Amino acid sequence: MVYLKSEYEIERMRASADLVGRTLGEVARHIAPGVTTGYLDSIADEFITAHGAISAFKGYKVGKNVFPATLCTSVNDEVVHGIPGNTPLENGDLVSIDCGVVLDGYYGDSAYTFMVGELSKANEALCCVTYDALQSAVDKAIAGNRLGDIGWAVQERCDAGGFGIVRDLVGHGIGQNLHEEPQVPNFGRPGNGRKLREGLVICIEPMINRGGPGVLTDADGWTVRTSDGFPSAHYEHMVVVRRGNAEVLTTFSYIEDVLEVLPYKTTAEA
Ligand code: MG
Ligand code: MG
Repeated sequence: MVYLKSEYEIERMRASADLVGRTLGEVARHIAPGVTTGYLDSIADEFITAHGAISAFKGYKVGKNVFPATLCTSVNDEVVHGIPGNTPLENGDLVSIDCGVVLDGYYGDSAYTFMVGELSKANEALCCVTYDALQSAVDKAIAGNRLGDIGWAVQERCDAGGFGIVRDLVGHGIGQNLHEEPQVPNFGRPGNGRKLREGLVICIEPMINRGGPGVLTDADGWTVRTSDGFPSAHYEHMVVVRRGNAEVLTTFSYIEDVLEVLPYKTTAEA
């Protein structure tokens, strides 16, 4: 069942999405070599609670498996769903921070991959391509287009760069549930798949590997990592399908206000 949202609902989701953006901005201030992902998680937990919301991830269940933390923090070859812990971030690491909240019954969900300290050219390229791919895909979230147009926008960018697109995990609808229909794959054929209708709210979230597309899940039941050990990047926006232009509910502006290096600007200058 695909739910199209009313303007009233979208207004509520705009507030949830904004809180996710602000939380990621707060976390971004603390990302540095030597800082643990567990510490970043505590920052997010306090911030979300102080703003009258709860984490969408803490307590999330798949079968009997319960996610134990506020954020998903995925370092280097971890793709998504990494569990925050006591290992300090190191110079040159990539860390994907995925944040979800529930505010007044509506979900927000967004992710950003940070480059810790000095970055390698190869990892910088990975982040740039993934970031650009998300933007291209967002531009396709227009009424009358199809899901395949969104997937193709990601695929076109990433195939051209020789990167591996994770196919086992996809974006999703969102609303009063974290994961609603439809699934939003990061691959597809233009003009194929479900037609996009105004008021559909989806999370578009390319997960792109520097190596091959294969992934596996750790024994913890959550952490998804690349099969070949190469690093992975992940950016996610919540988007309303509109006529003419997509409306992005989440924002990276709070993050990018505190960053010294922006993946997108780096690409433009290259
Ligand atoms: Mg997410
Ligand atoms: Mg998501």
